[in-house]
Amino acid sequence: MNKKYLIWDFDGTLGYREGRSWAMVLIEVLDRQMPGHSYSADQLAPHLRTGFPWHMPERPHTYIISADQWWAEMTPVFVAAFDALGVGVADPVLARNLARQIRPTYCNPDRWRLFDDTLPVLDELAARGWTHILLSNHVPELAIFMDAVDLSARIAAVFNSAIMGYEKPHPAAFRGVLEIVGDSRPVWMIGDNITADVFGAAAVGIPGVLVRRPDERAERFCADLWQVAALVEDAHGPGDSSRD
Ligand SMILES: [Mg+2]
Repeated sequence: MNKKYLIWDFDGTLGYREGRSWAMVLIEVLDRQMPGHSYSADQLAPHLRTGFPWHMPERPHTYIISADQWWAEMTPVFVAAFDALGVGVADPVLARNLARQIRPTYCNPDRWRLFDDTLPVLDELAARGWTHILLSNHVPELAIFMDAVDLSARIAAVFNSAIMGYEKPHPAAFRGVLEIVGDSRPVWMIGDNITADVFGAAAVGIPGVLVRRPDERAERFCADLWQVAALVEDAHGPGDSSRD
């Protein structure tokens, strides 16, 4: 039977971590370890704009084969961010110890949230016959966060860059999705990153919808997921499989 598929990004699209930014995670660690410190997320942010796997999507990381290894690769990035602010300038071991606490802090399942429209829209679309797939550039622990926010049971398959070794928009990041979707139509990719989600999907033949963060280059933009539901149902309503 021909199925209809929606491929969802996770972060910034369906859910988010409280605080939203990596800089806030580093601040959380500092708050705990150095109460009364005077560093800010704004000071840290510029030092966290490179060095993550998704900042180098052209570079596969299939050599990373465990979550421990994934986080070990990140340690120098966190240490450098602390160093840049002069944290631990008098104590060289401090920045490393702080960096080591970023993983458990970031991965605290209690800090993960879904947007208010996520579950109602996913459930409504599932009732209308859509199958949900998730394709995310993320940390290895994504499945744990999905469980914590009640998302896992609603998603038929999850493709996580940390496990695949390819970051969107690398075409190989879409390989697993394409294997499931095959020739089934309609299919849409929905995400908040025009490059990774929309352009990445377009390059492998999947039309994309940009959500939540407008960009003038987007052919289709929806401010929220209810608009996405309306768009995909309008484009491919019952008895109409001919229109794009
Ligand atoms: Mg995103």
